[in-house]
Amino acid sequence: VDVHGAPIIGTDEKLKGIVVVFHDITELKKLEQARKDFVANVSHELKTPVTSLKGFTETLLDGAMEDDQLRRRFLTIISKESSRLEGLINDLLELSRIEGSKFQLNWEQVNIETLADEVFLILAEKASAKKMKLDKKITGSSTIQGDPHRLKQILINLVNNAIVYTSEEGTVTVRVKEQTETVLVEVEDTGIGINKKEVPRIFERFYRVDRARSRNSGGTGLGLAIVKHLAEAHHAKVTVESEPGKGTVFRLMFYKERKTD
Ligand code: ADP
Repeated sequence: VDVHGAPIIGTDEKLKGIVVVFHDITELKKLEQARKDFVANVSHELKTPVTSLKGFTETLLDGAMEDDQLRRRFLTIISKESSRLEGLINDLLELSRIEGSKFQLNWEQVNIETLADEVFLILAEKASAKKMKLDKKITGSSTIQGDPHRLKQILINLVNNAIVYTSEEGTVTVRVKEQTETVLVEVEDTGIGINKKEVPRIFERFYRVDRARSRNSGGTGLGLAIVKHLAEAHHAKVTVESEPGKGTVFRLMFYKERKTD
């Protein structure tokens, strides 16, 4: 708490009282801490792939280049790490764009079922590599007002996570249910699930339950932070229900008609 005080002096120059102002700076301090944490996290996340790129390049230059097998192996790692770095930078730019004051949605009539089909097509190869099934269950109309590009991004992130955090031969189901004023969209998987105490934290930037698993699958730790922002821009609520070892459901409730900001 920030405290300021000032005396009140009367016309007779005698002390009449004191004004004390208590200013609650808890929120300000929290914001400042969040900003510092974010910068530290970004630096760390950027440093990891760069250190690896530097290490493998130097080893190649120091002689490993002469060995055909080593050269191929190291160049494969360099290529993978560069992609990770690119993904991270893209997600960071995306997040800062979404959080920026100029960010606006392009509102249109959007059919969620059509979007789900497009997303399944994009992720079909990834799913079939893990022998996973991508399923769809639609009840009623799946048309809402929203930004098709952003809604697709939400679905890609959720379905991609569902694939990543589910072991082989699992199923990912996109369920769309029409309700009176809203359309409920669920992305359900039969995967590893999330512990109850971790659930509230997964939307934080860079928060991962299992860092190694996220890294190996090309995750940036920003996917759900982006989902949350984009859902909020649509006035949609996001909830999560999960049972470790059984699976997870992400639920988004969209309004059929555009709500005024
Ligand atoms: P990441 O790039 O690490 O996947 P996200 O922001 O998309 O980052 O997700 C944050 C964390 O939430 C993940 O690292 C993972 O631990 C957890 N998570 C997200 N989706 C799922 C899911 N469908 N099943 C289990 N855990 C999940």
